[in-house]
Amino acid sequence: MKICRYNRNRLGLAVGERVLDVTAALDVLPEVRWPLPLGDQLIANLGRVRRRIKALAPGARSQPLAKVKLLSPVANPSKIIGAPVNYKKHVDESMKDEGISHGRDLKKMTIGRIGLFLKANSALVGPSEGVALRFPKSRNDHEVELAAVIGKPGTNIKRRDALAHVAGYAIGLDMTVRGPATFSFRKSVDSYAVLGPWLVTADEIADPNALDLSLRVGRAPRQSANTCDMILDVERLIEFSSTYYTLLPGDIIMTGTPEGVGPVRPGQVMHAEIEGIGRMDVRVRAHKSRGGGRKK
Ligand code: MN
Repeated sequence: MKICRYNRNRLGLAVGERVLDVTAALDVLPEVRWPLPLGDQLIANLGRVRRRIKALAPGARSQPLAKVKLLSPVANPSKIIGAPVNYKKHVDESMKDEGISHGRDLKKMTIGRIGLFLKANSALVGPSEGVALRFPKSRNDHEVELAAVIGKPGTNIKRRDALAHVAGYAIGLDMTVRGPATFSFRKSVDSYAVLGPWLVTADEIADPNALDLSLRVGRAPRQSANTCDMILDVERLIEFSSTYYTLLPGDIIMTGTPEGVGPVRPGQVMHAEIEGIGRMDVRVRAHKSRGGGRKK
């Protein structure tokens, strides 16, 4: 099942080139009050929501996917976890390119040693919202990544149990400002975490560690690889991250990017695709400051 959030927080079921309006399925969610429980309520109740979607789908109104505004399928993650240097050829390209490594000794910076990082939740957007470049004088790179969305809580999750904690998968863009600053600064700019075009439920992905993924900018191919090249696979990333963090429903693990990262500029469109999930188009624009500044 491909579940999307679109327009003004409508819930959709993507079927072929159309989206069915199944917003009424949200009625099964429990009412919550402040302080809100951590995690995403849609994902935490996904089993009930799915049953309701199935019941609603035959009578649902539909419209072309191309006409809707796609938002992040996860609205309220408790955290977005990133996996640095998780593809060997990306490590190799980073070592050769000072514009990526910025003086860091990547021989010592293996993922096993430096661990994972967090992206700010406020950076999260859907594909139709686009990416707003904040630092046009810096290099702002695309990183296409398989994103695993956690479905049930867990800590110290064992490898053999790991995939049972996954609700589904999406395409992630771990947009990155290159420079000497820390990961959590450079990768947490507003709109620098793109998730979409929908959540594909885990039952549709037989093996997340064997998916082609690619990204082009306009017509220029940039990244093309397979998740089988990950240094730490999806199971290991879940096991590893849960030794530090309790994973909660809606948590997003961006599993790392393969080789071919490169800069984007305002006006360009990124086309990202992952086998078994789908494709999404994400427009790049210049950030315009709002509030705090002087009005013209
Ligand atoms: Mn990344």
